[in-house]
Amino acid sequence: MKQYATTPPPVISLPIFGCDEVFPVRRIYCVGRNYALHVREMGGDPNRSTPVFFTKSRETIVASGTTLPYPPLTKNLHYEVELVVAMAAPTEIFGYGVGLDMTRRDLQGLAKNGGKPWDMAKNFDHSAPCSALTKIANAPDINRAEIRLTNQGATQQNSTLDKMIWSVAEIIAHLNASVTLAAGDLIYTGTPDGVGPVVAGQTLVGTIDGLQKIEVSYV
Ligand code: MN
Repeated sequence: MKQYATTPPPVISLPIFGCDEVFPVRRIYCVGRNYALHVREMGGDPNRSTPVFFTKSRETIVASGTTLPYPPLTKNLHYEVELVVAMAAPTEIFGYGVGLDMTRRDLQGLAKNGGKPWDMAKNFDHSAPCSALTKIANAPDINRAEIRLTNQGATQQNSTLDKMIWSVAEIIAHLNASVTLAAGDLIYTGTPDGVGPVVAGQTLVGTIDGLQKIEVSYV
């Protein structure tokens, strides 16, 4: 039997609504620029937009109900509520969740201006809160679902999933043209307009009709 030189990392998993099993997470892909109004609020042109993919480490996952430290190296931590697609196979969807693509917006701006990678703006500790997953058989017709984010109970993001520039099927096809998706992969599918800052002492709640909510608080 193989002897590990250091303690192997734990399996990271998400709860599954109404099920005793959990979903083991493999990789996390995120889509940028997938709602026209959000592309515009970030200063871009949605008509010239092409799919932008980036990744987060699975260790950035945090469960709903978690209290989180405000992260280092930022004074402008932003929320981005997103539909999360959980994969069962390269083209087979396991289920859906609601995620927060937390972003150190000031570091992202510096990276963009400098033509440098976004990693430290996106892929930092606790940067990918995600709800419990709902199996696809129990999920609503997500194409018409509303997606919302509240901060301290006040609605900040409110849209519908049919406003995504690339549909879930198109995102999966684009990703499979570049890498091979597999069971355990999560896809954060992009955020609508209304992104903004969260500060210590505030609670974020992300919801999509018919799915489990994501709720996190910052201290
Ligand atoms: Mn995002």
